[in-house]
Amino acid sequence: MSSDDSMAARVARLRQRIDAACERAGRAPGSVALLPVSKTFGAEAVRAAAALGLRRFGENKTQEIRQKAVELADLDIQWVMIGHLQTNKAKDAARDAAEVQSLDRLELAHALQRRLEAAGRAIDVLVQVKTSPEPSKHGLAPQDAAGFLRTLARECPALRVQGLMTMAVQSDDAGAVRACFRRLRELRDRLRDEAIDGVRLDRLSMGMSGDFEIAVEEGATEVRIGSAIFGARHYA
Ligand SMILES: *Cc1c(COP(=O)(O)O)cnc(C)c1O
Repeated sequence: MSSDDSMAARVARLRQRIDAACERAGRAPGSVALLPVSKTFGAEAVRAAAALGLRRFGENKTQEIRQKAVELADLDIQWVMIGHLQTNKAKDAARDAAEVQSLDRLELAHALQRRLEAAGRAIDVLVQVKTSPEPSKHGLAPQDAAGFLRTLARECPALRVQGLMTMAVQSDDAGAVRACFRRLRELRDRLRDEAIDGVRLDRLSMGMSGDFEIAVEEGATEVRIGSAIFGARHYA
């Protein structure tokens, strides 16, 4: 392993590992996007990552997006909401987020739709699906996804569905982690067969610092990476 611990070196090593996982799975290297997750890290860390050419950043709190968006207004950054979003924060997300990956219920969809419609704007969304048994994980039950997508297509034109997102079970058992990612891909394949008008399912956002290689082998089109780029998180 290289001893260069700069952010540039960490990102380069991540891309190598993503490409290697692509090759193992017979996928084209470069076919998986890297979404840096900057939650808890300050604007300066995002600025350093932006200097490496990264432009989309995952965050889990609307207040934190707002703060960083103000400090980094000179950069062309797209903020991606990946954390649980309270309905009363839909207004802030509709203003500041370019994309929401944690869409998991109709109440939230309707709140976002109202705000976006008022602003004359539309955003990309991924629907978060719960593929692990842990009560702490958010997301729609897989069996509810088809109905949810049909309702979105009918009632929420400002939400452009692009695919699905999940978090795998937190476990040392690689087989259990893999099963979560596989569950999402198989669900996507079944939903695709239903060909719901206006709903695209090209994207699968799955895999984090500890499990992204398994996610790529199971079909992830983007991995959400925080600590492996920015270092350990310290919560106040
Ligand atoms: C924090 C977070 C990540 C990144 O986690 P790391 O283990 O630091 O890579 C990815 N996805 C979601 C939804 C998160 O909340």
